[in-house]
Amino acid sequence: MDRKTIYFDHAATTPVSSEVLEKMLPYLKGNFGNPSSIYFLGRESKKAIEEAREKVANAIGANPREIFFTGSGTEADNWAIKGVAYSNRNKGNHIITTSIEHHAVLHACHYLESDGFEVTYLPVDENGLVSPEDVLKEIKPGTILISVMFANNEIGTIQPIKEIGKIAKDRGIIFHTDAVQAVGSVPIDVNDLNVDLLSMSAHKLYGPKGVGALYIRKGVKISSFIHGGAQERGRRASTENVAGIVGLGEAIKIATENMEENNKKLMSLRDRTIEEVLEKIPYTRLNGDRYKRLPGNVNFSFEFIEGESLLLMLDMKGIAASSGSACTSGSLDPSHVLLAIGLPHEIAHGSLRITFGKDNTHEDIDALMDVLPEIVGRLREMSPLYEKVKRGNQYV
Ligand SMILES: *Cc1c(COP(=O)(O)O)cnc(C)c1O
Repeated sequence: MDRKTIYFDHAATTPVSSEVLEKMLPYLKGNFGNPSSIYFLGRESKKAIEEAREKVANAIGANPREIFFTGSGTEADNWAIKGVAYSNRNKGNHIITTSIEHHAVLHACHYLESDGFEVTYLPVDENGLVSPEDVLKEIKPGTILISVMFANNEIGTIQPIKEIGKIAKDRGIIFHTDAVQAVGSVPIDVNDLNVDLLSMSAHKLYGPKGVGALYIRKGVKISSFIHGGAQERGRRASTENVAGIVGLGEAIKIATENMEENNKKLMSLRDRTIEEVLEKIPYTRLNGDRYKRLPGNVNFSFEFIEGESLLLMLDMKGIAASSGSACTSGSLDPSHVLLAIGLPHEIAHGSLRITFGKDNTHEDIDALMDVLPEIVGRLREMSPLYEKVKRGNQYV
C-alpha cells in the first residue's frame, strides 16, 4: 500500500499473502501449461490443481472428488442454488433461505422466483440468528433446497448450521451453505454438519480474487452451470485458473492450520474494540450476536450519524472500514441485514463494520480510538436530532 492505510475491511477482501503468492507465481510464468494438455507442462498444471483440490477437501472434511473449482464465491452460490433448483424441479419448486444472505444467494433466488420457483426468506432474531424451528416450520412436500449462510459478512453472526443440516438430512432435502466468511475462521466438517453443498472464495482468506470452489456431496443432484469443455469432470467448463486454484488451495491450508492461533488474536482485537467503543461512545449499539460471531468482526450502529460520512472521515485519517449501506450498488439504502435484525432505517444508516485480519495490531486499535469518538462527536454536532437529545428533550 502506497499511502499508509490501517486496513479494517477484511470481510470485503484480503491481500494475497506472500506464502500464497510464492506458490502461485510458477504457474503464471514457467509452468504455464494447459492442464488439459498431455505433455509435461500440461501435466504439471494438472498435478498442481489436484494438489490444491486435496488441500481444499482436507480443510472441510470432504473427498477431493467432491471439490469443484469456480470463478468466485458468487459463482459457487449461483451454481449451488440454480443447479439444484433446475435439476430437482420434478420433485418440487420450493426453496428456503434467509433474509440476511449475501446478494449472490438472494439475487439468485429472486431470479428463480421470476422463473416459477417459490422462495421462503426466513426472518432472523435481533442478533441475526436463524431459528432451526423456523426452518422446520417452512418445510413442505415441494421443498427441494435449504440455503443458510454459515456466517454473515456484515454482522458476523454464526448460524446453527449443524442443527439445520440435521433437519435437512432427516427429510432428504439438499442443504447448501455459503461459507465464504466461515472457511478458515470456523472449524468445518461437512459430514459432521450434514452439509451437501458449500461455497468458498479465495480472496477472503489471503488468496487471489476471482477463484472459489463449491463442495458438492457425492450423489447430490445438481446440473452444470458453465457449459463447454470437460474440465472439472465435465461439470464446470473453461480452462482452469491454475495459479488462482493453487492460491486457493494454499490459502485454505494455511488458514486452517493457523486457525486457533489466529482466532485468539482476532478475538482479543475484536473484544477490546467492542468494549472500548461501547464505553467511550454513547448512543451506540453492537450489531450481531456478542458471542456467536466471527472472531474478526465488529459492527456498530451510532445513532444520529450517517455511516457514509463516518467512512469518509475515517478514510481521511488513513483508516479503511465499511458501513452498512449498500454503497456498492450506488444506492444509499441501508443494509438488508441491518433491517432484517430490526434496526430502524435511520439507525441502520449510521453503522460501521470493522473486520480485523492477521496483520492488525493493538496499535491499530489505539489509532482508531484516537479518532473515532471525536469523529462521531463531530458528525453528531451536525444532527438536529442530536441537538434535541442533548437539550434533554425526549428522544424521538
Ligand atoms: C464475498 C462473499 C461472497 C462473494 O464471493 P466473491 O468471491 O467475492 O464472488 C459470497 N458470500 C459471502 C458471505 C461473501 O462474504
